[in-house]
Amino acid sequence: MNNMSQSPLLYLDNNASTPLATPVLEAMVNCARCQHGNPASPHQSGRKARQVVELVRENTLADLGGEITGTQPDRLVFTSGATEANNIAIRGLAKDGPIILSPGEHPSIDRVAQYMAKNLNASIVWLDVNQEGVIYLEQLESYLRRGAGLVSVIWGQHETGIVQPMGSIAALCNKFGVPLHTDATQIVNKIPINVQEIPISALTFSAHKFHGPKGIGGLFVRGSADLKPLLWGGFQQAGMRPGTESPVLVEGLRTAWLWSQSQMGVSGSSLSEMRDFLEHQLRNAFPEVVFHGDSALRTPQTSCFSVPSLDRQALLMALDQVGVACSTGAACESGAVQTSEFLRAMGCTAPLLESAIRLSVGYLNTRQEMEQASDRIINSIKNLQRRISPQSTTVPARREGLKMVD
Ligand code: PMP
Repeated sequence: MNNMSQSPLLYLDNNASTPLATPVLEAMVNCARCQHGNPASPHQSGRKARQVVELVRENTLADLGGEITGTQPDRLVFTSGATEANNIAIRGLAKDGPIILSPGEHPSIDRVAQYMAKNLNASIVWLDVNQEGVIYLEQLESYLRRGAGLVSVIWGQHETGIVQPMGSIAALCNKFGVPLHTDATQIVNKIPINVQEIPISALTFSAHKFHGPKGIGGLFVRGSADLKPLLWGGFQQAGMRPGTESPVLVEGLRTAWLWSQSQMGVSGSSLSEMRDFLEHQLRNAFPEVVFHGDSALRTPQTSCFSVPSLDRQALLMALDQVGVACSTGAACESGAVQTSEFLRAMGCTAPLLESAIRLSVGYLNTRQEMEQASDRIINSIKNLQRRISPQSTTVPARREGLKMVD
């Protein structure tokens, strides 16, 4: 039965995109009312628009821990989102030598690297991960020792939330003089990030993952990093990303940045408290449930779970029917029937892969919603379990096929 009309929609797909926070919308409307100039125009209207863009650039760079003064200041390039920032980073930072990637990268990293491998004579070296989805530092070191042109490792993995040891990764890349990019889209404004403490060359983020507008993101670039542009055109953003900047989107990004930082760790309804509550309820109802990467460090908003032998697409549809929005993985891959490559790299067996579902909470969710959501999820799973044979519900939650470091 479709009872969506009786129950409010519970949005638990915040890793795909977050709702715009009200102060963000208000700031954007205000900005749209008074900023109509092109930030590149030299007249008063243009200068006012430029001021908005440059102030946000400087403040956001400073918040990230970037160096804003000196002979080689760090840079913040505004982009249309994380996809573009990732493309600029991979194409623009790679020196001669293999591109080293982790297995859980977003398609906007691994597909551009694959394009470069096919058309531009590049090669890719894939890192392995352990059962908790964490890379082996010894393996990274052995690859770096053989020479590399770029390393890109996702900081907070979008499907599972698994956080990589970025400080140690950056220290190794620095030791071997290889640029390091990280896709930090799912971790920025979820936990504190400081690029002064972690010497990465470049970092990607996107405003719509922290209650800002879609269509704007950024690439932090270390002052010393040699970045080549992907697009050619005007002199905007020092030629690194030509095209007219949007003061309205920039203002939205900044307001969302500050607003989401103010929500970080608010006790009682913090992201991790809501996520942990959901996991606790599911664990009580289904002792066989597996939470992927739950012994590793995870981003506080993400839970990826499998109830072995349940069909994830059937569960997703059942949850949609009862008004719970979640996903089977990256939104960019939704609709795809393939199971997660990252979970496979972690050694998950077919029953776990085929039943993996991602729940991701946001700063606009409430504790009360978690109670409603867990009831709906548990009921939906029980309904589906009743329809499958009792034998198949007892498939062991086993992992196999792990590759060890050479
Ligand atoms: N990287 C990661 C880790 C993501 O989760 C996403 C969004 N699915 C992207 C990149 C792409 O972001 P955008 O929508 O801003 O292009």
